[in-house]
Amino acid sequence: MTKLMKYSEAVKKFDPVLGLEVHVELGTATKMFDAAPNEFGGDPNTYITPTSIGLPGSLPTTNRTAVEYAIKIGLALNCQIAQTCRFARKNYFYPDLAKAYQISQSDEPIAFDGYVDVELDDGEIFRVNIERAHMEEDAGKNTHIGGEDGRIHGATYSLVDYNRSGVPLIEIVTRPIEGAGERAPEVAAKYVQTLRDIVRALGVSEARMERGNLRADVNVSLRDSADSPLGTRTETKNVNSFRGIDKAIRFEISRQAQVLSTGGTITQETRHYHAEDGTTSSGREKSDAEDYRYFPEPDLVPIVASREWVEELRANLPELPAIRRRRLREEWGYTDMEMRDVINAGAVDIIEDTVKAGASPAAARKWWMGELSRTAKESDVDLEELPITPAQVAELQKLVDDGKINDKLARQALEGVLAGEGDPAQVVADRGLEVVSDDGPLIEAVEAAMADNPDVVEKIRGGKMGAVGALIGPVMKATRGQADAKRVRELILERI
Ligand code: ADP
Ligand code: MG
Repeated sequence: MTKLMKYSEAVKKFDPVLGLEVHVELGTATKMFDAAPNEFGGDPNTYITPTSIGLPGSLPTTNRTAVEYAIKIGLALNCQIAQTCRFARKNYFYPDLAKAYQISQSDEPIAFDGYVDVELDDGEIFRVNIERAHMEEDAGKNTHIGGEDGRIHGATYSLVDYNRSGVPLIEIVTRPIEGAGERAPEVAAKYVQTLRDIVRALGVSEARMERGNLRADVNVSLRDSADSPLGTRTETKNVNSFRGIDKAIRFEISRQAQVLSTGGTITQETRHYHAEDGTTSSGREKSDAEDYRYFPEPDLVPIVASREWVEELRANLPELPAIRRRRLREEWGYTDMEMRDVINAGAVDIIEDTVKAGASPAAARKWWMGELSRTAKESDVDLEELPITPAQVAELQKLVDDGKINDKLARQALEGVLAGEGDPAQVVADRGLEVVSDDGPLIEAVEAAMADNPDVVEKIRGGKMGAVGALIGPVMKATRGQADAKRVRELILERI
């Protein structure tokens, strides 16, 4: 077991510094340097051309749309856009990299010197400075068979799928993030969330973390105080959820604090994050001067981004998330607090989709922030990972609005949808949840309730209208909660 210092104590004793490297897969139709489809899934090694895997004689050509997307990202992150920049070869061998080099950008990134304003839970704005955003290609995917947790260690053989090889990536690298203090985990998670929202708004990536469209490497170091030089960092690789980012940083801060305060030193290394228990474990040692033998890619011409093109892209940037949120808050009539809760829950898009599907903003908020948030929390997943769509939530609410089900039955229907029993109407039909407003069965239940409770009936006759509830209760019970309460009341009063 790794020894940890209590988090609250660790951040009192030490000043954490972070660095985030976020990879975003671009949603272009084809790959970065060849015409193979850029699609997720597919049978292994089917979305490839000779260039994707660097067969002899194959030559790359740069995907113009990918460059356009990269510039848009750079602009949205308030970066400078390079007038000209080149690709470089980053040389290393790994089975998922058939060419034994990755085409990337080293000292000539397309975008540099920017910043992102991140809104924290309490509305405070924290500015994260961006060092650079550069273009590169993704590698393929290894699958190790026979080892523990799919890791190479202990595996008996490995499979390689090159479908992802050559998928366009943007890597966004922050400057060291200082001054976040105990809020460092929150700042990091919100920063990545902000990036996700920005690239989605730009329409350049689906940015689905669970699919690996967006992955974060998280650097963490500690120092004695804000005036001390930077400490030695660790780099936790490929964390693929916001919760994971928060937890990995919390863990690293507690772990490093324990090591440092007991006289130990931090090894500069990569680490793996384990989502099951929120811990990290040692990967490989990594020095600052790793020699990838970068050199300019001789098979590609430099990129020259004309100022006219850049200005045209700038002028046509879509509405960015911070502005959109302000607009939606007004349209939806939410209070500042309500909107902040919705943003913090990562529910803006999902609520917007639910409203588009026909639900009122209030109803959409009620479902996603209530029942569904609770369910997501219980199973430790993000809202969009729940097995229910905005359209289904809107349909559920429509069943309530049409009086087909009441709120209580709606919750049962929701349970059914989440359990994979189909659309709300289907679940209502299959589970027989529809409100009974047919007079036949209701009259029977009402008359039985009146016969069983003559004293209550007397009270109502005597003018105590409040006692009607005492009759509605048994009727509800007899109809398993499915009686239309309004109709029941009418039927009782008719009989008094
Ligand atoms: P690498 O090649 O190791 O991935 P990068 O420069 O791409 O290095 O990324 C390193 C990240 O870590 C950057 O975001 C950088 O700002 C950040 N960083 C650098 N030094 C420290 C440190 N001492 N503590 C925390 N973060 C750091
Ligand atoms: Mg890096």
